Amino acid sequence: MTSIAGSLGLISGGAAGEIPPKAARLVEIAHSNAARLVRLINDILDIEKIEAGRMQFDLRPLALAPLLEAAQHQTAGFAGEYGVKVDIEPVGAGFAVLADEDRLMQVITNLLSNAIKFSRRGEVVTIRVTPLDRRYRISVIDRGEGIPEAFRSRIFGKFAQADASDSRQKGGTGLGLSIVREIVVRLGGSVDFESVEGAGSIFHVDLPAAELPGISPTPSEVETQMPRDPTLPIVLHVDDDPDMLAVVSSAFDGKATIHSTPSVAEARAAIRRTRYDAAILDVGMLDGCGTDLVAPLRKRAPSLPVVLFTAQEVDGAPKDGIDLVLVKSRASLDTLVREVTDRIGSDRVNGGGGK
Ligand code: ADP
Repeated sequence: MTSIAGSLGLISGGAAGEIPPKAARLVEIAHSNAARLVRLINDILDIEKIEAGRMQFDLRPLALAPLLEAAQHQTAGFAGEYGVKVDIEPVGAGFAVLADEDRLMQVITNLLSNAIKFSRRGEVVTIRVTPLDRRYRISVIDRGEGIPEAFRSRIFGKFAQADASDSRQKGGTGLGLSIVREIVVRLGGSVDFESVEGAGSIFHVDLPAAELPGISPTPSEVETQMPRDPTLPIVLHVDDDPDMLAVVSSAFDGKATIHSTPSVAEARAAIRRTRYDAAILDVGMLDGCGTDLVAPLRKRAPSLPVVLFTAQEVDGAPKDGIDLVLVKSRASLDTLVREVTDRIGSDRVNGGGGK
């Protein structure tokens, strides 16, 4: 099949000389159908191999950032054909999963090609990584046509396609997602999706976290591993200076459990996991501004106190949902601790006041 598709590709590309336009059109049809058959046969062989337990899985810690960039690169041509752009949100350098590189690549490129294929021209497909408890979630987000309600329960089935008619517009075998699910399950993970018809779909792949040799866990990972006193309030602290994170965390010792996060992206992920009692936000970080987090924080806890703790002087009274602005060079840590704990409410805080 590969040689048939290859030969037809060469002929339609002009490698065998000029051919009349009518013949060229027929060769093109034969070429695209041969290529489709090759994909179908490869997919069937993959399913067969996985089901028979003959697919090899070479598990090792894999850094997510370079792997996702490679997947973006691999699907760039396909994305170009559909006029779709693939974006990767910032991925932490230490974010890694335990997986087989080729197989994980197959999973991500499969989800990406679906997302691209079901997007409209000019739309963007986004890849996002969210740290979860001892796992990482890789999400492929599209704003395309979405998945019809009636089809959702069958989507991971073999040969399942929402539009299985002969006249359907999109190519594919209907095996992609069943291969994705088989692989992810064998990697010890899970795959799921959310979709709104007409507005798009999100496919999530959750995989076990791994530690890369030579990279220490980020502060947020350290926090989630620490046992916490359930009587203490939980405060989110976002700052890209690791020293500042460490100092503030110890200043709150015994008064609050601090979740330290070094970036806006990680803070967003933390907000999805945890309902915070207060937040301390830095302003200028590499991937955004702490004030971007006010809306998602308030969505989960409408009245939580939000304090900007920043190196920059801020003119005028606090606005945009900020309760207080403290400038690092002027406010002591004692003030920060007192202001935050007082605002949370003395009923929740053991002891209260600064230290
Ligand atoms: P294929 O893409 O080869 O048809 P898959 O198993 O990958 O097969 O997907 C099965 C079906 O699920 C698709 O035909 C489509 O109906 C639906 N689907 C998958 N991903 C998306 C998506 N991102 N947006 C809309 N529909 C999707």
